[in-house]
Amino acid sequence: MNLAPASTKAWHRKHLLGIEELTREECAAILDTADSFSEISSRSRKKVPALQGRVVFNLFFENSTRTRTSFSLAAKRLSADTQDFSAATSSLSKGESFIDTAKNIEAMGADVLVVRHSTPGAPHLLAQHVKASIINAGDGAHEHPTQALLDLLTIRRAKGKIEGLTVGLVGDIAHSRVARSNIHALNKFGAHVIVCGPPTLVPRSMERLGCEVAHHLDDVLPRLDVVNALRIQFERIHKGFIPFPSVSEYLHFYGMTIERMRVAKPDLLILAPGPINRGVELTPEVADGPNSAILDQVTNGLAVRMAVLYLLSGRTHPHPHEHEAHAAGIKPGRTAEHHAE
Ligand code: ASP
Repeated sequence: MNLAPASTKAWHRKHLLGIEELTREECAAILDTADSFSEISSRSRKKVPALQGRVVFNLFFENSTRTRTSFSLAAKRLSADTQDFSAATSSLSKGESFIDTAKNIEAMGADVLVVRHSTPGAPHLLAQHVKASIINAGDGAHEHPTQALLDLLTIRRAKGKIEGLTVGLVGDIAHSRVARSNIHALNKFGAHVIVCGPPTLVPRSMERLGCEVAHHLDDVLPRLDVVNALRIQFERIHKGFIPFPSVSEYLHFYGMTIERMRVAKPDLLILAPGPINRGVELTPEVADGPNSAILDQVTNGLAVRMAVLYLLSGRTHPHPHEHEAHAAGIKPGRTAEHHAE
């Protein structure tokens, strides 16, 4: 196994801001690198020196469980120094601006800023004001690129391909950054995307992104190879706007239940980005059942985030005089297998 597959040559970017602007080759470079890094996590010593001396800061202005912890762990597995910034206890409450906050953190030597913010475009704004690489870890309802990449990796591993599959994104599409990033990513790889949910959460205009729009899950379910059950984004829904009459009706019309599994393809793959709400988007029997790859997504997310950190700061932007292979902790011609630390 080689730490840096040939396809990484397709990667020349300093930032990862969204899937929309990436080529299929660039997405494939991340997925192939993630495949290489997955093996490291199965070792007893789960660490390589690829990003030794680099500093990765997590700047999360919105809550997170999986994304923040897996970026931290990914940085540690690559031997980077990592630091979490907590918006709630920071000087933002004293009036310091978002850009000034980021500049101060950069002044501590940050090479990579992993940014989550409720405002769409916030990571793009920082990319114009700081020298560090910026990774978008979710900007409002806009994009969540590493989530889409880990979803692709999970599909590719479970199904052996992405091209030609029909993937249903079910639930709150209107307010979901996961939906947008997934639509862009799946389209690039030749999957057919059906977005499905109540008309209040799945506007017809989504067709413009290159997907089919459906409002009746039972009509499209038999065609689906993958269902990605998306959470209702209550935090992004304006007070007073009621997208459906009740949770039990939502489950009745759009929830993935055992009854629906019986009419679906036997090998239907169940995904959910988390957090999952059991009994709303899917029932416990489905979430924990044999078709579910929800925890595989979490495992694959770690590998994807290692790959992204490596491609942005380890390989393509080495410190002066550092050779690529040296930065990765591998001697030319040898593999990561031989150079585990
Ligand atoms: N964790 C994902 C996100 O941050 C999905 C969700 O919150 O529903 O967008």
